[in-house]
Amino acid sequence: MKNYKIAVLAGDGIGPEITAEAIKVLKVIEERNDVTFELLPAAFGACAYFEFGDAFPESTIAICDSADAILKGPIGLNHEDSKKIPIDKQPERGALLPMRRRYNTYANFRPVSLPKALAHFSPLKPEIIGEGIDIMMVRELVGGLYFGNKEMGVNEQGIRYVKETLEYDETQISRIMHQAFKLASKRRKLLTNIHKSNVLKSSVLWNEILEEIAPQYPDVKVVHQLVDSAATNLCLNPGQFDVMVMENMFGDILSDQGGGILGSLGLMPSACIGPDKAYYEPSHGSAPDIAGKNIANPYSMIGSVAMMLENSFDMADEAKNVWNAMQAVFADGYSTADLSKAGSGVKMISTVEFGDKVVEKLRLG
Ligand code: NAD
Repeated sequence: MKNYKIAVLAGDGIGPEITAEAIKVLKVIEERNDVTFELLPAAFGACAYFEFGDAFPESTIAICDSADAILKGPIGLNHEDSKKIPIDKQPERGALLPMRRRYNTYANFRPVSLPKALAHFSPLKPEIIGEGIDIMMVRELVGGLYFGNKEMGVNEQGIRYVKETLEYDETQISRIMHQAFKLASKRRKLLTNIHKSNVLKSSVLWNEILEEIAPQYPDVKVVHQLVDSAATNLCLNPGQFDVMVMENMFGDILSDQGGGILGSLGLMPSACIGPDKAYYEPSHGSAPDIAGKNIANPYSMIGSVAMMLENSFDMADEAKNVWNAMQAVFADGYSTADLSKAGSGVKMISTVEFGDKVVEKLRLG
């Protein structure tokens, strides 16, 4: 019998609601496999700040350190409420970035996936979706502008200024490139490199390293695309992409656009992998506008569990069963409010009902 410890950081806003549904799924997997999941709940984000004065308190760090994997809900407050927390202690700066730094989770995998049968969820026309959308965005997660030096102040002329540094070195770039190439070799053997080398020197080095590594993966075709152009092409022709690799901030923005072309950020799970530890989280935020209403889409959180089963616990078959169970719920015509557009014929269900239906399908599978 295998025993895995999972730190469960439910987070803020819709976090606890969608985490509860993800845990129901984990329980089913546990029931029918030779495995136990020891769930270790811990405070993280704004809720942790209000309880402990720290968005990533020592007690949570200890739990995460001891865990085999971390399941993390979204964190953060709405614009106004976030002002109740000092800037450096706010959830992203005070918890998320420190966690990424602590576990060096440099490789972020964000699937942007929509089968043809669910084209009605997307704002794109069916002819643009074609045979469906199936992209894996690979985002560098611990470098670049988000992790560089930050300085804010008033200069000698009394003018307020801000200075943020975008830094990468070749080891940081090459390790994410290898991840992207390896993944591309297992998929359509097509890697789209997202950059901005016409303006940013960081992209010049990024591309240089890619060119040096590419010969090690002769079966992978590399296509270079400027990030601004990629934003357009995601809307006009998403089928041209398979694996996309990009630096931290480009990935943050383009992956939200990925959620947009699917029809909702609620369809965006992710895996954040480091050398010794991985954590799994929806790509989206805490959605304060819908928190507490039992209408959030838990697909992103349940999908993150599927990614955890595959990557951290070597349970690829059960991961596939989880994806299939969610697709089966959609195939029956159900979805949460974010995807239930007027006239689409979709039967709207709550967060809890979606989780229950996934569990039902999973038990059949
Ligand atoms: P958001 O991603 O929380 O929400 C954007 C829109 O998408 C909202 O309309 C929301 O209702 C909808 N949405 C998101 N997830 C959904 C789901 N599962 N089901 C249905 N609808 C969903 O972005 P925001 O409003 O800009 O940010 C809110 C907070 O989240 C901010 O404090 C931000 O800093 C934080 N944030 C955290 C993370 C993270 O924890 N990794 C990521 C992004 C933003």
